[in-house]
Amino acid sequence: MDETVRNSILIVDDEPVNVTILTEILQPDYTIYTAKNGTYAVEAAEKHLPDIILLDIIMPDLDGYEVLSILKKSDKTGNIPVIFLTGLDDESNEKKGLALGAVDYINKPFKESIMKLRIHNQLKIVNQLRTIEHLNKTLEEAIVDVEASSHAKSAFLATMSHEIRTPMNAIVGMSELLLLENLKSHQHGYVRDIHVSAIALLDIINDILDISKIQAGKLELSCVHYDFTLLIDNITSMAQFLVKSKEKKITFKLDIENKLPSCLYGDDVRLRQMLLNILSNAIKFTEEGSVCLAISTTDTCIHFIISDTGIGISQEDMPFIFDAFLQVDMKKNRRQEGTGLGLSITKTLVEIMNGTMNVESEQGKGSVFRITIPKTLGDETLIYQANNNERTIYAPTAKILVVDDNTINLNVACG
Ligand code: ADP
Repeated sequence: MDETVRNSILIVDDEPVNVTILTEILQPDYTIYTAKNGTYAVEAAEKHLPDIILLDIIMPDLDGYEVLSILKKSDKTGNIPVIFLTGLDDESNEKKGLALGAVDYINKPFKESIMKLRIHNQLKIVNQLRTIEHLNKTLEEAIVDVEASSHAKSAFLATMSHEIRTPMNAIVGMSELLLLENLKSHQHGYVRDIHVSAIALLDIINDILDISKIQAGKLELSCVHYDFTLLIDNITSMAQFLVKSKEKKITFKLDIENKLPSCLYGDDVRLRQMLLNILSNAIKFTEEGSVCLAISTTDTCIHFIISDTGIGISQEDMPFIFDAFLQVDMKKNRRQEGTGLGLSITKTLVEIMNGTMNVESEQGKGSVFRITIPKTLGDETLIYQANNNERTIYAPTAKILVVDDNTINLNVACG
């Protein structure tokens, strides 16, 4: 706001002498407009939009109360503060004016210093409101800018991640095929390193793609009928593989409390992603002891508890562990790879599934992550209807039509 802007005042009085006195007193500090009756007052208010109006009450034609009512009804003039000029020493008249929306009274004959203070105080409020309005507008514009740039960032990340995924899939697939060849031992080692690194990079890219979808509000579930026990088998094998490949001296335990439903309806790919995120963290941050996945079901829910005897999370770090791109306790975790996206994505997925997730942890003793999601039983006859080309097909003898415009990917898929 420009501090040097001169405030303006509209003086309305049918007595020319009053107008003259007020103008002389106020002109050095303010821009003055005048009107000699109610009709002119309304016109002048609309034309000049003064910062404040000094309004006589008793006038021929329209009186001050009527003028005030007209001004208040208009969008243009409704917010201009009005101070009544009155010689009436009558409480009921003051009440009437204030009830109509006047902000103050100035009594005639005018006491210069008091009058100036009253006007000054009202204009201070006007200027403060204007500053707030200006700040609000600036803030709103800034929010629009931030939203636009955040949208542009998410779109960029989504496009880039998508574009990078295609060649990455080729590197993962081709190196996997090469590993099946009769390679010399050192060559096998090189290719295995390429393969492992490519998978790690692909995981990061997939996480970035997910987080950009989350930030753009575009992450959606893709629900199908799926074999729940097969999914748990697959997750268990993955967890055992991770323990082995990281050469950890820890035991992985699967604890199933009651008979699991064989077929569920939901997004199995995302459920697998959630559970593997938590399990791979548990394995990553545990050097000895065990990591356990416990599953139990009720009529309406499935509960997963992933517990570990690892390094745990301090109470100070606890509020931040679900923040995107954040890895807590960097001193201890420096050697652990990761992007700090896994928990943030998992929490969002749980919320999208209308589930709940919480964590308890004690530093040095371990952590317990609890996830509960609604249980929707599926139809077994519909399980093998793969409904999109990225979904894992569990039927081992299924005939598959592979469609891809990328020849390398086609070779990998059919390899
Ligand atoms: P990332 O594992 O890629 O670093 P996450 O979002 O999965 O990212 O986890 C965020 C941080 O939370 C981790 O870097 C780690 O500091 C902490 N954390 C998550 N799970 C565990 C766990 N089971 N034990 C100890 N710390 C954990």
